[in-house]
Amino acid sequence: MEKVNQLKAHLSDIIHLRYATSVLGWDQQTMMPPGGASARAEQLATLSKLAHQMFVADETGKLLQDAAAETADADYDSDAAAMVRVVQHDFDLATRVPTDLVEELARTTSHAHEIWAKAREAADFAAFAPTLEKIIDLKRQEAEALGYEDRIYDALLDQYEPNMKTADVERLFNELREELVPFVAQIFDNLDAVDTAPIKQNFDTEKQKAFGLKVIEQLGYDMKRGRQDPAVHPFTTSFSINDVRITTRYQEDWLPASLFGSIHEAGHAFYELGSDQSLEGTWLAGGTSLGVHESQSRMWENIVGRSRGFWKVFYPDLQAHYPQQLGSVSLEAFYKAINMVYRSLVRVEADEVTYNLHIMLRFELENDLLEGKVAVKDLRDAWNDKMQSYLGITPPDDGKNGVLQDVHWSSGLMGYFPTYSLGNFLSVQYWDKALQDVPSIPAEIEKGNFEPLMTWLVENIHVYGRKYWPAELTERVTGEAIQVRSFMRYLKDKYTDVYGL
Ligand code: ZN
Repeated sequence: MEKVNQLKAHLSDIIHLRYATSVLGWDQQTMMPPGGASARAEQLATLSKLAHQMFVADETGKLLQDAAAETADADYDSDAAAMVRVVQHDFDLATRVPTDLVEELARTTSHAHEIWAKAREAADFAAFAPTLEKIIDLKRQEAEALGYEDRIYDALLDQYEPNMKTADVERLFNELREELVPFVAQIFDNLDAVDTAPIKQNFDTEKQKAFGLKVIEQLGYDMKRGRQDPAVHPFTTSFSINDVRITTRYQEDWLPASLFGSIHEAGHAFYELGSDQSLEGTWLAGGTSLGVHESQSRMWENIVGRSRGFWKVFYPDLQAHYPQQLGSVSLEAFYKAINMVYRSLVRVEADEVTYNLHIMLRFELENDLLEGKVAVKDLRDAWNDKMQSYLGITPPDDGKNGVLQDVHWSSGLMGYFPTYSLGNFLSVQYWDKALQDVPSIPAEIEKGNFEPLMTWLVENIHVYGRKYWPAELTERVTGEAIQVRSFMRYLKDKYTDVYGL
């Protein structure tokens, strides 16, 4: 495999540049003093530009062509064949969009960020509307350049969830809407059944940090291959299969923020850390899509981290950290409080029941905007109408509680939102399959032993890195395609119990 090895060597320089860029980005968000900001922006721009130029170079195309010829008869499951497939996909995405358009998008979105931030602060949608109009126009051009067969959104979605089609996401959401909207309404009629006071007290952040670290280490986060630091916007980043770092944000009056945020990011890190060691430094290391990535973080955060069994293990210790706040709160009361549902206006603060309604709304609006069914000037009303019909509330403002709340559109990220919901659906499908294969997983979790679950995830999902497309992986793991049935059943079982419906 001489040609494959040449391609690998060429890509490894690009990978080194990318990882170095990530180290600088990690430092920027965790350690850097404010004075470093402008120099850092320049350094990041230079490294990103170099990596991009090397990747879209004719040399990559030539090496890729030769490697494709060499692997034409190779086993589909071989690393060589998989690498050629994945690199080809990324190369197409990176080279189909003309450089002028890439630059115009970068320029527009970098200005847009500030305009959006001010408009959001002032809750003034009209101040952002002209900029959004411009971004949507550019995204349409980008989608046309990338190419699609059916829906314009397909081209954008493919950047985050390779090979996923808009029509399939629509089918999933249609099914979800039908069952979830009435179920949510039923919970809303019974909100009094759960007292949320226990998690809204004052929780010293030093203790939050100590407890959170203890939890993620017991789940399997290896501090010799990772670390956790505070950051304004929590994220996970990798510089190698053996150096995957996470960040968290502490909120003194809201226990779940850091606790479940840490478990969530650890779930992302487990996926990255679990790539087979033979994939180190290759194009195949890491996760296959944002949706599959989110399935891992959500499984650990919600299915495991918000379960009774999990808290049977950790609650006495949490009570010992906060005897005043939780000493007299029963395990059952605490379990219900961390699973509270409410009429959420803000996506990032939404509970696991209403979360997907926020995503569905954004997915529908993105499609309508791109397809010209909703004009930007009418977006605010369209947003508020959907909030009313899905969640039964109308945002009190257009800023942080309304149409301007998310950073995504100002950054040109369209087609990204659905991956959050795809991850939620997949998390339950994978979990069900893990329990089918290893029925003792829940009992082991109740004993504080997370290894059987982790081993199953590593062996069935993590080791493959990016070798299989998300749909292939799901089919291989579960024997079926992505569906919402399992997720809805999980929600109904859990929340019928929590809310005593
Ligand atoms: Zn996530």
